[in-house]
Amino acid sequence: MLIIGSGLAGLSAARQLSIHGIEVLVLEAHERVGGRVRTDIIDGIHMDHGFQLYNTAYPEGKRVLDYQALDFHPFSSGVISATEHGRVKLGDPRELLSWLPTSITSGSLGSKAAFVRYALAQARKSPAEITSGIDSSAHTALERAGVTGKFYSEVIQPFFSGVFLEPELSTSSRFMNLVLLTFVKGKPSLPRNGMQAIPDQLFNALPTGSVRFNSKVSSVSQDSVRVGSEVINARAVIVAADSTSAHELSGVNIPSWNSVTTWYHLAPLGTIDEGKPVIVVNGGAAGPITNSVVLTNAVPGYAPGAHLISTSALGIHEKGLDLSRQLRTMHDTDASKWELVGHYPISQALPAMTPPHAFSSPVEQDGIFLAGDYRTSSSIQGAMVSGRRAADSVLEKVFGQGVPHAGN
Ligand SMILES: Cc1cc2nc3c(=O)[nH]c(=O)nc-3n(C[C@H](O)[C@H](O)[C@H](O)COP(=O)(O)OP(=O)(O)OC[C@H]3O[C@@H](n4cnc5c(N)ncnc54)[C@H](O)[C@@H]3O)c2cc1C
Repeated sequence: MLIIGSGLAGLSAARQLSIHGIEVLVLEAHERVGGRVRTDIIDGIHMDHGFQLYNTAYPEGKRVLDYQALDFHPFSSGVISATEHGRVKLGDPRELLSWLPTSITSGSLGSKAAFVRYALAQARKSPAEITSGIDSSAHTALERAGVTGKFYSEVIQPFFSGVFLEPELSTSSRFMNLVLLTFVKGKPSLPRNGMQAIPDQLFNALPTGSVRFNSKVSSVSQDSVRVGSEVINARAVIVAADSTSAHELSGVNIPSWNSVTTWYHLAPLGTIDEGKPVIVVNGGAAGPITNSVVLTNAVPGYAPGAHLISTSALGIHEKGLDLSRQLRTMHDTDASKWELVGHYPISQALPAMTPPHAFSSPVEQDGIFLAGDYRTSSSIQGAMVSGRRAADSVLEKVFGQGVPHAGN
């Protein structure tokens, strides 16, 4: 059984097939697993490929990952918005009611109350109810719910644009509702050793030799693939590549990409006050920045002996863009001497999810099985579910093994 790609979708498919006794070979174009979930460790500094968080409420991760070994460190202390009237702190989004009494500078109480009502209504639904519910853009859904004015433009829009990686909140409201559900039920977190620890854990549980690195597949059929001049035959093939590569290999229709650039800076310990792991969003006062986070407030081991700050902006930006003035606004401290240690321009970060968004695109096309976040939802949860679904379909259709449905 061949799988193309060792991102979370490919690794999840490999896991599911292996535990059902099927021998798998995963062909990976790069030299390590993880795809878009990777971490560079340079001089002890952990830099994920873009600012990403794992939510402990992801149902598929709960089923499959060893949370204790990953040692998740939560972001738990709310959101700060850098607005033109200064920084406004809002309570922990998981304790939504604490958003209500905070400073009225960021919008009317009515708009905040509307948001809390909306979010709590999502939290009472099941994922299946949300994914089959009415869909519109997130912006439209929020507007209809009465989430408008400054609270929208200074808090909600910058917060969700950092999640969707697009500024208009044109993303599916079904997806936003799932995000709200996971925020209320779980904790956005980082593993102690960086986001790459998640794919590494799945990889390490596979039988030795299951993944072949530096093996870029150039063509695919139902029962074989080509890598360089070598043709490898198999009972079936799962294409678990990113959407652009999957399109090139199989002709499948794909959505467009949302892009983002992340910079990493080091600051001397004790020079940033925030203390707690809090996401600072740009409520209109900090140029192109979308959000900025002192990662070491959540996981000190990301950069022992220093503050490590991750700053992201939608779209692609150059390494040398001077952000010091805006970072001062975001973190309320002099950022002019911060040392730039990393720059990650990611043009293919998230497949766009425009409404109506289908959370379960067909698993098979012309006899080739398909997995990847673009088949379900643009998230770690989506990628993992897509891999398991493709594997279940292979087990049933190719190997005649029915697997009980485990949900989406
Ligand atoms: C900056 C950023 C921020 C994000 N933030 C979050 C977040 O906070 N929370 C969240 O849940 N999700 C987040 N995501 C989304 C999440 O990371 C992805 O949805 C998920 O990792 C996609 O996994 P995948 O396996 O579908 O695809 P990929 O990770 O893209 O894996 C595809 C793999 O296929 C390989 N491949 C491609 N073509 C070939 C070929 N021809 N031959 C062999 N191998 C091939 C690639 O090298 C790659 O390893 C973020 C993503 C980015 C980039």
